[in-house]
Amino acid sequence: MRKIRNQRQVLENNRWSVFTDNLKECYFCKSPDVELHELIYGSNRWNSMRYGYVLPLCRQHHNSFHKNHRLTMEWQVKCQEHFTNKYSLEEWLHIFHCNYKERLKQKIEKIKGDYND
Ligand SMILES: [Zn+2]
Repeated sequence: MRKIRNQRQVLENNRWSVFTDNLKECYFCKSPDVELHELIYGSNRWNSMRYGYVLPLCRQHHNSFHKNHRLTMEWQVKCQEHFTNKYSLEEWLHIFHCNYKERLKQKIEKIKGDYND
């Protein structure tokens, strides 16, 4: 148990991002007042840190990720695509247990379906 806690502490203290080398300013607006946001959260939060699926965000952009589920899902797809370009979908599913690309597609189809009803 302690070992897991220590590993997590190390991950948390050494967060990095595949999307930017600069974690000191907001990815979108360059504001220097940032918080680090794990793009994939819940049970995958630690995987998100491990693989660099993190963005530095100002308060405003951080809020928009929490409010806008579609934005969150689109970035989760970007993470998945980054990973599968480098490794494979099979490995992604083995680690993350969710096909975010499929999930977004289903969500969009559902919205279209609701619109046509
Ligand atoms: Zn910002």
